Amino acid sequence: MLVLVSAALNLRDQSRIYACGVCGGTVNTSLRECPACRVRLDPAQAGAAADLMTRVTRACADARSIKITAEFFAIGLFACKGLWHWGAMPLPSGDRPWGMLSLAWKAIGLASLIIPVMALRWYVRFQGLRSPDPDLPKAHRDVRIGLGFFVLIALAAILLDRILEAIAGWMPDK
Ligand SMILES: [Zn+2]
Repeated sequence: MLVLVSAALNLRDQSRIYACGVCGGTVNTSLRECPACRVRLDPAQAGAAADLMTRVTRACADARSIKITAEFFAIGLFACKGLWHWGAMPLPSGDRPWGMLSLAWKAIGLASLIIPVMALRWYVRFQGLRSPDPDLPKAHRDVRIGLGFFVLIALAAILLDRILEAIAGWMPDK
């Protein structure tokens, strides 16, 4: 939402938005005083504040994309594994589609290694970023959620086969 407002403001003029240091309200670099709390705004500090806001916005967007990527891989992996183990798909086992399904989850498992790489890059870029913006803690949480999904994916890739085989061993034969 903030990004859209920012984009709209940028289309109209070259001023950039940032948060008022006193009340946290949205102001832009062309304003001399905050419309919300009437505090005088310093043009010299405004540029730095706008830069900070741009970085926070970037950090939030990157964190969100890490989380979404991780969720996507996790859903894909568990869907493939679920289909494989419980034969939800009406295919006779040993057929080529099963082999492709098995390949698909191995590919997803390998591709999910991109998640810790993205998270590491995020920490290198944004770990030192300090801002009262409430979106920043959310960004940190998004990255941790992404890493959590990666741990789940890694555990699933290593252990799920054995767990499911054990469960299948307990079940009566078909
Ligand atoms: Zn203000």
